[in-house]
Amino acid sequence: MTQFKTTCCYCGVGCGIKITPAVDGKFTVSGDESHPSSRGLLCSKGRELHYTAWDKTDRLGHPEMRWSRSQPRQRVTWDAALERTAAVFKTFIDKFGPDSVGFYASGQMLTEEYYVVNKLIKGFIGSNNLDTNSRLCMSSAVVGYKLALGEDSVPVCYDDIELADCFLVAGANPAWNHPIIWRRVEAHKLKDPSVRIITIDPRTTDSARFSDLHLAIKPGTDITLLNAFARILIENDWIDADFIAQYTEGYEKLKAKAFEKTVEEAAAICDVWAADMRLAAQWIGQSKGFISMWAMGFNQSVIGVDKNLSLINLHLITGQIGRAGAGPFSLTGQPNAMGGREVGGLSNLLPAHRNLLNAEHRAEVERFWGSPQPISPKNGLTATEMFEALEDGRMKAIWIMCTNPLVSLPDVRRVEAALKKAKFVVVQEMSNRPETLEYADVILPAATWTEKEGTMTNSERRVSYLHKITPPPSEALPDAEIITRFAEKMGFGDAFNYYRIDEKTGEKRFDTEGVFLEHAALTKGTNVDMSGLNYSILQKNGTVQWPFTEVDARQLTDNHSFTNSLFPNIGTKRLFEDKKFYTPTGKAQIFGCADENLSEPTTPQYPLVLTTAR
Ligand code: SF4
Repeated sequence: MTQFKTTCCYCGVGCGIKITPAVDGKFTVSGDESHPSSRGLLCSKGRELHYTAWDKTDRLGHPEMRWSRSQPRQRVTWDAALERTAAVFKTFIDKFGPDSVGFYASGQMLTEEYYVVNKLIKGFIGSNNLDTNSRLCMSSAVVGYKLALGEDSVPVCYDDIELADCFLVAGANPAWNHPIIWRRVEAHKLKDPSVRIITIDPRTTDSARFSDLHLAIKPGTDITLLNAFARILIENDWIDADFIAQYTEGYEKLKAKAFEKTVEEAAAICDVWAADMRLAAQWIGQSKGFISMWAMGFNQSVIGVDKNLSLINLHLITGQIGRAGAGPFSLTGQPNAMGGREVGGLSNLLPAHRNLLNAEHRAEVERFWGSPQPISPKNGLTATEMFEALEDGRMKAIWIMCTNPLVSLPDVRRVEAALKKAKFVVVQEMSNRPETLEYADVILPAATWTEKEGTMTNSERRVSYLHKITPPPSEALPDAEIITRFAEKMGFGDAFNYYRIDEKTGEKRFDTEGVFLEHAALTKGTNVDMSGLNYSILQKNGTVQWPFTEVDARQLTDNHSFTNSLFPNIGTKRLFEDKKFYTPTGKAQIFGCADENLSEPTTPQYPLVLTTAR
């Protein structure tokens, strides 16, 4: 029986799934034993995925539209919905400028979908108002990596887990939120009890319970703690002086900051024992392979970037980066937050880690896309700013795709007010349940997992191909095709001509791979080069970790050793093994992060401290 390999669509771990079709368009799922990330394991969410995919009871099947807020929406054709939307967008752009419209997208989208919407708004509409729900989760990590390492590049891979002997889990609960990564950490610890696990979390989570040391700090005192770790490492000479001298800059700034407080003073601020802090730092300093893992506890914070930097500092002063079993590992929550980062799917990014504020980068992308006008040199609005702009009238229209801001954005009342105030709301959705639909002037039904093809990238830079296995219900379409059809209606059809004639049927059909190949070509020569990648390589060989250049592709032959390997590994497992970082000087940057007044004091009137508990 035909079996399809695909990837779980729920989280950034990116576990491999085998799908076995059954009768009535149904199918069963099981773990893919050959998948290098998950090795046959699936958590309870992935194991039950077929039930979610089977359930069509809430699916949207037809475009709907209303002419005014007082009228009910009616079923319309795709052409009618997209023509009207294009007419409204054009009117606002002509009258108020391109920044009067924007797209709010999602880390759940496939890379190709991200790519076309990013190209449309930045390259053709002339605004940078594209942001995604990944902004809420990952933007601190993106900036932390960029500042410290020169680019948003995750240096490590999951195979480093079994090679490490010390883990620092900070602001994350992988036992719940990245379960299959955590199963690998647990298995490694059970096999080798000398492995040390430290968890920093105000809450006693399952991850904390499994750890050798739980530092239940006062919320907001993370940087004080990490600076104290740096001090202990320096005082005990558990640092790598050669690495610091040859490959880094900024050490003295960190040292000055770290020595502003004694360990005891830091312990009092963090509300943990100084002895525990010394023990944790000792384990880090004396480890052969040190991996840190972090998520929302660090990222979803007004000081998120500094938290990231102060954690990366520990790797840079100990030389625990760019080698097997070591490195700072930001855990992505969404299944394709990484793909979005690769295509530049945030309001301040351009494709392949190019910078929006860099004129040369803008010119490169403009030339490649054949943009009719220069890419706007100013950052677009971020996720929360877009809704503020709708509320105060600067933005008139918003297109929400693959996400529900009425559940996931902070300050939901403000989002409600913004959507009420918006002149025009488009919601591209698969389900009839999200609260956003109530505000939609146009609803566009989208295909979902197993109903469309495309790619995603997991937390370890691993690109995987997702098969189309079942047809979407009724008239629902893949997100990339919806955006492409809209681009045509806007008059940009030549630049969005992703169609080809099917050799078997002679019919014109949307060519998702054409989008992928264009995205891959735009990465050529960059540090995220995946110009050697195409769908047949991914389908034939499983998954690939970028960078994967055209030269890498030529070296990949049918007899490549992966066919004999239990866990095929193609591409680049880890970055910076040559110790050349992507900064202008080639050296990693160490920062002295301030830690004053980060913890909000409680008072009798406000006695509680809340965390997002992710
Ligand atoms: Fe899916 Fe994440 Fe669970 Fe893996 S760990 S099965 S990717 S939800």
